[in-house]
Amino acid sequence: MSISQVVEALKQLQAFDEQLKPLAADSPEAHTAAQQWTQYLNQIRRDNPTLASLYERIRRKLIAQGKRVVVTLHGTHCPGCWMRLHIQALVKLRAGEAVVCEHCQRILVS
Ligand SMILES: [Zn+2]
Repeated sequence: MSISQVVEALKQLQAFDEQLKPLAADSPEAHTAAQQWTQYLNQIRRDNPTLASLYERIRRKLIAQGKRVVVTLHGTHCPGCWMRLHIQALVKLRAGEAVVCEHCQRILVS
């Protein structure tokens, strides 16, 4: 799995989390979305266990608050906490990698 595929899978996880939230936990739709969610998470875990565990760890808190785990870089700032990112993080993002915001722990993509 290339880094761009990991980034795509992270975006899919986020999309499933947004679908899951309004669904009743025992509905068939929620069951299907939860299965797909697990597939994407396992794909990410194979290549990047650190990002996969981070996603699992911070989603409970953030999703419960109606916030996104995976956010898209806004200029030179993290749109989750509005802190400016270090140049090293920006270089990685421009290369298509995912980075973790050191201030709010959200996963940033470009
Ligand atoms: Zn942040």
